[in-house]
Order: sequence, then C-alpha cells, then structure tokens
Amino acid sequence: MRTIREDAAAGVGAGVWRAPGRVNVIGEHTDYNDGFVLPIALPHAARATVRARQDGVLSLYSEQGQGPAVELDVRTLTPGGVDGWARYPAAVVWALREAGYPVGGADVHIDSDVPTGAGLSSSAAIECVVAAAFNDLHGLGLDRPELARLAQYAENAFVGVPCGIMDQMASVCARRGAALFLDTRDLSSRHVPFDIESAGLRLLVIDTRMKHDLADGEYAKLRAACARGCGLLGLPSLRDLDPRDLPAALARLPRDLVPLVRHVVSENTRVEQAVALLDAGEPRALGPVLTAGHLSLRDDYGVSCSATDLAVDAAVEAGALGARMTGGGFGGSVLALVDTGTALTVAGAVKRAFRRAGRRIPRIFAASASAGARRIT
Ligand code: ADP
Ligand code: MG
Repeated sequence: MRTIREDAAAGVGAGVWRAPGRVNVIGEHTDYNDGFVLPIALPHAARATVRARQDGVLSLYSEQGQGPAVELDVRTLTPGGVDGWARYPAAVVWALREAGYPVGGADVHIDSDVPTGAGLSSSAAIECVVAAAFNDLHGLGLDRPELARLAQYAENAFVGVPCGIMDQMASVCARRGAALFLDTRDLSSRHVPFDIESAGLRLLVIDTRMKHDLADGEYAKLRAACARGCGLLGLPSLRDLDPRDLPAALARLPRDLVPLVRHVVSENTRVEQAVALLDAGEPRALGPVLTAGHLSLRDDYGVSCSATDLAVDAAVEAGALGARMTGGGFGGSVLALVDTGTALTVAGAVKRAFRRAGRRIPRIFAASASAGARRIT
C-alpha cells in the first residue's frame, strides 16, 4: 500500500493543504459586538496531508501532538466525545456532517509551526486546514467565508470555546501583503494594503510565553457585560452606538459598564483610523493608534497583564512607533511596529526587560502579511 505522502504526490484522493495562524493589527473584543477587526495571516501555518478513506475511520496524527494517531468513527462523533488536541480537527468533520455534507473518514497528518496558546490562533489554523482539505477532496464547493463559519461553529459547538469569527476568517481569507478589514456583523471584508516592509517598517510579534486562556470565565463575563450594556441602551449591539452619542450613552450606564462600552466604541473607531491610514499609504502613523489601543485594553477593558504591559512599555521606550497586546488578553502576544533599523534594538530591549524582571525570555519574530488557506499539492 502506498503511503499518504505518495498518494498526495500522485494527487489520487489525497493532497497537502496549509492554513496560517494570525495576528490582529487592531480591533480587540469588537468581534462579539458585531464590530470591525483588522487581522493579517502569519507566515506560520498548519500543513495537513489528507487522504480520504472508505471505512468511516478518521485517523488523526499531529507531529506536535503527544502520542500515536487518534482513531475515531466519523458516524459517532459527538461534542464532548473527543479529548485533547484531536477535538479541533474532529470538530470540523463533525460540523461538515451536521451541515449535511456526506463526508467520510480520512487519514489526516498535521504539522504546524504556529506557536500554540500564544494568541496566534494555532487552533483556527488546524480547523481551517482540515476544512479546506475536506472541501477540496469531496468537491463540496463551500466558499471561503462559508469555510470560516463552519470552522468557527466547530470550535464553538464541538470544542466548546465561544470564539468569534476573526481567527477563521483571517486563516481562510487573508492575502499576502494585505490586512483583512472585516465587518464581523455580515462578514463583508476588504483587503487593505499592508506592505509595511516596503515602507521601511517591521511588525514584531512578541510571544510573552504567558499562556492566555480564554476557557476560564473571564471572556464569557466580558461578553455578558457587553450584552447587558446593549440591553440597557436599547441597541442590537455595541457596534450600533455612534461615537458621537458615546458621552450621553455612558451617562446612562452603571459605573461598571462605562469603561467596557468606551473601549468597544473607541476600538471600532481605531480600526477605521488604521484602515484609513493604510489606504492613504501612511503605515508609520499606525504606531500611536496601536499604543492607544493598548491603553484602552489595559485601563478600560482590563484584559492586559503584567507581561504584556512590560513588553509594550519596553518596546515603546526602546523606540517602537507603537505597541499593543493582541488577542483576547490575560497573556499571549504583543505587537510592536518598528522602523526596520530599530527592530533588533527593540527586540533586545524587550528581552532584557524580561530578564531583569526574572521572567521567561519572550520569543520575538517579524511578521509579514501572508496568504490564507490553500492547497499546496
Ligand atoms: P491559540 O489558538 O491561540 O494557539 P488555543 O487554546 O485556542 O490557542 O488553541 C491551542 C490548542 O490547539 C492546543 O492546545 C492544541 O489542542 C491545538 N493545537 C494547535 N496546534 C496544534 C498542533 N500542531 N498539533 C496538535 N494540536 C494543536
Ligand atoms: Mg485559538
């Protein structure tokens, strides 16, 4: 019998796909308020070699997972019925079958260089690579936003993580050299030029190695608080609050909701500002928008932490044009926009600050805007 790689090379019922992780340039905690986000896809991606099987067995193996392949029967997949990392790929196959697509078993071999649990969306990369592979192998004809929706539903309903749609949309729809300006209300999107390298800039990703964990109650509490604010203001979502009406609206809210609503409304405006600057060919001017976003997440939304604050402060002090935490918060990664010539200085200063504070040294790399999910063999 031929190996899965040999079948993929021959293209018979098998192939290789890739789907990237992402960072969000600006627009944090806006997605579940029907607002705007502005992610780019990372050069880091999950690759999957996938071969259809006729016996209904879904065999899942990851180079990064512990242990041997996990073998599941596609006909008996149920939410809560799969443990560990295999939940993510299994969730997608389950979601496809739930949606009425008669997909069967497969051998799935995953290899990913997206750092896990760093807020860079390694989970969406796994989901989206499997969704893209099954879509192509079975000729399902799902378009890119449909694949993203399916992967999000898989994570929400099967894995049990109440994530928004940004990660999957970025992983599936992003383009090289562009950021994805996404309206999370209706999934309309536009590719905005993000060729910052040509402008003499770099976007540093600083993985603080403080694991973010959105599975705990904080994320759900923030979502519930935003929903309560909407109810009190009589709005469908916070997205519908016009920034000009913000002072009057804040005056009507209980004190605990004021900073949360202020963050969501100001963050949506920052996404629009960032898009306008990129459209105008002024990426350098993004710096202050990023830093303002960080202060809002730290002081109004309350989701920063000492590690992300330390990275932002050290980066800005060392000459970054701007910096902010990215992702849901409580750890994860920080973005710093820097002149190419100061990238090493800023990275060195951040590492020194962590060493002085007795913390684990962050992993730092420059991210260029990369392409979304695609078949490679
Ligand atoms: P993030 O998506 O920000 O990296 P999550 O907690 O949402 O963090 O997802 C991380 C989880 O995704 C891991 O704990 C693991 O279960 C799964 N995962 C991600 N990448 C891989 C991989 N290469 N192999 C196996 N599982 C992976
Ligand atoms: Mg994730």
